[in-house]
Amino acid sequence: MVLEVVDTIKSLVSNSSGVDSNISKCAEKIESADNIQDIVKLKDSVVGEMQKVRQHSRTLQDELEEHRKNSIVLAKKLEQSEAQALVDPLTGVLNRGAYNLKMGQMIHEFKRYKEEWALLILDIDHFKKFNDDHGHHVGDKVLKSVTGTVRNSIRISDQIFRYGGEEFVVLLSRINTKTASQLAEKICREVERDYFVDGDKKLQVTISIGVAIVGKDDTELSLFERADKAMYRAKNNGRNQVVMDL
Ligand code: GH3
Ligand code: MG
Ligand code: MG
Repeated sequence: MVLEVVDTIKSLVSNSSGVDSNISKCAEKIESADNIQDIVKLKDSVVGEMQKVRQHSRTLQDELEEHRKNSIVLAKKLEQSEAQALVDPLTGVLNRGAYNLKMGQMIHEFKRYKEEWALLILDIDHFKKFNDDHGHHVGDKVLKSVTGTVRNSIRISDQIFRYGGEEFVVLLSRINTKTASQLAEKICREVERDYFVDGDKKLQVTISIGVAIVGKDDTELSLFERADKAMYRAKNNGRNQVVMDL
């Protein structure tokens, strides 16, 4: 019976890739023991070694659990930094990287579902002069404030992106020419009405908007260029207005 137990211990130890050489040695000693007292003592040693193995396995499990928790935290951080990579830190709206992603998707969806949408380019008027007169810091506040005003004027399903500098793109989903024109006009008037307090001064800015409705032959670039040209016409016509690309 003792020899059978020893065989079992040996096979278990060989399965655990030689980690438990102490147990192996005990098993060998049991095999060659010639009285029951020695076997009983050696059995105690085997039990002691087994407990060490169990403790080691618990420690490994704890470490594994710790690694599992850490990897969840890392995955969350990665998700957050991916989201942050698409946001403009000054204004908190989506940035040009996000715009590129969204445009690709929307052009693709239009070809598939034929639901019209509009691209608006908004550019703050005479912003260089505004910065020169009031300072870059106040200019930054204006950028934030204009963004907030535009955000409040559009529907929840529409999106605003900071394309660069003082230029923004708004994508209006499921909209026709007439409604897009009305919404652009509303944005223009809201920004004009808005003002910012800087000390004892009340400051205002205006924006010019170019609007283009997506068409079946449009690429991301062609649609943007049509809206951009319309925006420049708005500038040339005297600024603070909307021009539709028709
Ligand atoms: P226009 O009416 O023709 O658009 O004239 P503009 O002066 O707005 O246009 P221009 O392109 O000459 O100048 C853009 C200005 O926007 C210059 C730059 O200092 C300012 N600007 C761009 N990015 C920022 C920013 O992050 N913060 C601030 N405060 N100003 C910025
Ligand atoms: Mg400008
Ligand atoms: Mg500009």
